[in-house]
Amino acid sequence: MAGICDSFQRGINYLRISVTDRCNLRCVYCMPPEGVPLVPHQEIMSFEEILLVVRTACDLGINKIRITGGEPLVRSGIIDLVRMISAVEGIQDISMTTNGTLLAEHVEDLVDAGLHRINISLDTLKYERFKQITRTGDLAHALKGIQAAMKAGLNPVKINMVPMQGINDDEIIDFARMTIEAGWHVRFIELMPMNRSAEFVPSAVLRKKIESLGPLEPFRGIKGNGAARYFRLPSARGTLGFISPVSEPFCEECNRLRLSSTGLLLPCLFSSEGVDIKTPIRKGAADQDLKNLIAAAIGSKPKQHHLNSHDTLNKNMSSIGG
Ligand code: SAM
Ligand code: SF4
Repeated sequence: MAGICDSFQRGINYLRISVTDRCNLRCVYCMPPEGVPLVPHQEIMSFEEILLVVRTACDLGINKIRITGGEPLVRSGIIDLVRMISAVEGIQDISMTTNGTLLAEHVEDLVDAGLHRINISLDTLKYERFKQITRTGDLAHALKGIQAAMKAGLNPVKINMVPMQGINDDEIIDFARMTIEAGWHVRFIELMPMNRSAEFVPSAVLRKKIESLGPLEPFRGIKGNGAARYFRLPSARGTLGFISPVSEPFCEECNRLRLSSTGLLLPCLFSSEGVDIKTPIRKGAADQDLKNLIAAAIGSKPKQHHLNSHDTLNKNMSSIGG
C-alpha cells in the first residue's frame, strides 16, 4: 500500500476522528460551563459515513486511527464503530482518547471490538480539585477507568496530564512517582491557550522539577505517534512523555489528519478551515472524488501551527480531539 505525503514531505498515516463534540465533563480549559452548543443530529457524521472516510483514507496509506471527541464514550454505539473500523483491512492500530469516567463499564467490550491502546486524561489526583477542574466529574470514576484499562490488557495505557500554573502544577512530582509506583505512562501536555483559563507550564520546567527524583533517561521503546518525547526515571516501569506544542512544537514530525464530528477534514489542530467531506458523501460522490478530497486536505497541511493566533484558536476549540 502506497503511503501519502503532504507538501512538506511528511508521511501522513494517522487519522484522528472526533465522533462527538459533546462531553460529560466541562474541563475549564476545554469547554464553557454550559457545554458546547447543540449541533443537530443530522449534522453529525454517521458511523457508515465515518467508515467510508476510514476505508478511503486507508487506500491512501492511513493505517492508524484514534477515536476522540468531545468524550467518545458518550456517543451511543461507539463499540460498534470500533468493531467496524477494526475490520477494515490495512488499519493496523486503533486507539482512543477518553476522560476515563465511563471506561470501566465499556473497556472489555472495547478490547473485544479491536481497540489496541488508550489515552486517559487526568489532571489531578485530588478529589476536590478534580471537581474544580472538570466542573462536574468524580475522580473515583476516572481512577476506576484507569484500573479497568490496565486489567483489560490495553498496552500501553497512557495518562495525559495538562499542568496549569497555580492550579495543579504542585502535583507534577506525584504524577512522576506514579511511573515508579504504579507503572503508569504519564504524558504532560502543555496547555494551549484556548480561553486563557490558566497559564501553561513549559516542559523544560517540568523536567527540571522531576529530576529531583533522579536523572531522566531518554526512552524510545513506547508505541505512539511522534508528538511526545519520552524519558524514564531510574527503576520506573512506566515512562514520562512531554508534549510541548507551545514551547517545543513538533510540527516537522506531524503525521496526522483530523476528521471533525461534523465531517470536516482538518489539516492541523489549529486550522481555521477544513475540507467538507460529509456533503460530497451524502451526494453520492465516487470513491476517487473522496480520495481527491482527502489528498487535498493532506496537501493543505501547513508547515507549522500558529499558536499565537487567538482568532484561529477560538474558532477551533471544538475541533480539539486529543
Ligand atoms: N474527552 C476526551 C479526553 O478528555 O481525553 C477526549 C477529548 S479531549 C479534547 C483530548 C485531550 O485534549 C485531553 O487530554 C485534554 O486534556 C486535551 N486538551 C483539551 N483542551 C486542551 C488545551 N487547551 N490545552 C491542552 N490540552 C487540551
Ligand atoms: Fe471533555 Fe475531554 Fe474537553 Fe475535558 S478535555 S471537557 S473531558 S472533551
